[in-house]
Amino acid sequence: MQAPLFIAGQWIETAQTAPVFNPATGDTLGTVSRADIDHLDQCLSAARQGFEVWRRTPAHERGQIMSKACAIIRERATEIGTILSQEQGKPVPEATGEVRTSVDNLEWMAEEASRAYGRVLVPRTPGIEQTVRKYPIGPVAAFTPWNFPALTPLRKIGGALAAGCSIVLKPSEETPFTAVELVKAFAEAGVPDGVLNLVFGDSRLISGRLIDSPIIRKITFTGSTAVGKILQARAAEGVKRATMELGGHAPVIVCDDVDVASAAKLAVKSKFRNAGQVCTSPTRFFVQKGVYEDFIDAFVNETKRLKIGNGQQEGVDMGPLANERQLKSVEGFVNDAVKSGARLVTGGGRVGNRGYYFEPTVLADVPDTARIMFEEPFGPVVPFQPFDTLDGALEKANALPFALAGYVMTKSLSRSAHLSEEMVAGMVVVNHFTVSTPSSPFGGMKESGDGLEGGIEGLDAYLVSKTVTSRIAGKDLD
Ligand code: NAD
Repeated sequence: MQAPLFIAGQWIETAQTAPVFNPATGDTLGTVSRADIDHLDQCLSAARQGFEVWRRTPAHERGQIMSKACAIIRERATEIGTILSQEQGKPVPEATGEVRTSVDNLEWMAEEASRAYGRVLVPRTPGIEQTVRKYPIGPVAAFTPWNFPALTPLRKIGGALAAGCSIVLKPSEETPFTAVELVKAFAEAGVPDGVLNLVFGDSRLISGRLIDSPIIRKITFTGSTAVGKILQARAAEGVKRATMELGGHAPVIVCDDVDVASAAKLAVKSKFRNAGQVCTSPTRFFVQKGVYEDFIDAFVNETKRLKIGNGQQEGVDMGPLANERQLKSVEGFVNDAVKSGARLVTGGGRVGNRGYYFEPTVLADVPDTARIMFEEPFGPVVPFQPFDTLDGALEKANALPFALAGYVMTKSLSRSAHLSEEMVAGMVVVNHFTVSTPSSPFGGMKESGDGLEGGIEGLDAYLVSKTVTSRIAGKDLD
């Protein structure tokens, strides 16, 4: 497989390439093109021209073209899901599910394109009309990571294209092939040249060149908080809007009134999705003392049922980690926790010596001093701590600089009301684990990010407002 650039409607294979690996085997899967400065400048100029065309295209026509892309991607969902699984590691059904969910998001935005309403103000002076009008903010630079190679690009493309913006997308070089398939669908659907551009290469070179260019008016990034801070600071130099979807470290408060077996089953399913490499993954389990040991037992029993293997094989629940860095990082978290005094209940090591597999791992009685309690683990590792009072659990849940997602499990209405009100997070989920839908805004508080994707907020993120005040009656101008 080869992943070329896509600039001004042309697919470009560059002389410089980098290998792409299959995390299930460690074998080379193909190559990805690497853009140089000239490519980036061509891209910027294409995005400027594309913007002029796209912003003048009526919103319902934009929506129609986007809907056509949705139909194409939907028809190829299994094919794209298989590619996604090969380059990223998650099992094919999960990967295909990601593609379908991504299209649902895109379709919602395609419909929303026609609803970028402004408003008419009530004037303070007779004869004056005041309107607030919405316009696309301008060409967008979008940077997406390797954990959701379909969802993160399509969230950004959806909002930008619905609003009338052109976009330069730089997906992760570790998972480029899914992005290529998505862009092909938009090209086939009739998105005009320059409206959607795709580049790969040196992340720093690309983000620097794009963010510094006066052509780019908005930055959107999904990835680690560390990189997000660098890009946000750079965007601020040009006073550019930046949407940052960054790391999380989601608390799960499990109260002593839950049905332990079913709560643990739900939690396991969510925790090990994508081998835990999810920014909203439930990552810090605080369980009330009365059910602490029972809940861990039930959780471990469910965990032991998971089938680990190559995501291309049928019946596999959890694939490998996405790359070798992840494997080393997860190993480091587990070793540090055990050294700090945590009890290793199950898992704890690599699986085999080919590919990047790591056992689903449960750690109990993890002290606050263990790194896993304050750094995002981004892997199949679950730390547990017992708690006495709800307010004690809340204090721990809210203690970190992260505030993306948070989970609550209880049968009590008043506990649910109290915890969901007091938990500091962009998204609080009670008694289930579905964090977002196409109509709901997705994003974090504190260092988990700034700005939202999805829902009406996700369209607004690509719009600017202009107030127009006109004298429509009264004395003639003289
Ligand atoms: P990283 O921070 O180096 O890379 C994350 C993503 O940002 C990658 O897609 C990369 O291509 C991109 N990137 C890196 N530097 C960039 C730059 N200067 N300009 C533009 N894009 C840039 O980290 P990593 O080693 O891939 O992952 C490390 C940790 O980051 C993970 O363990 C996890 O905690 C976190 N992470 C979070 C998310 C998320 O969705 N929140 C996604 C990926 C990684």
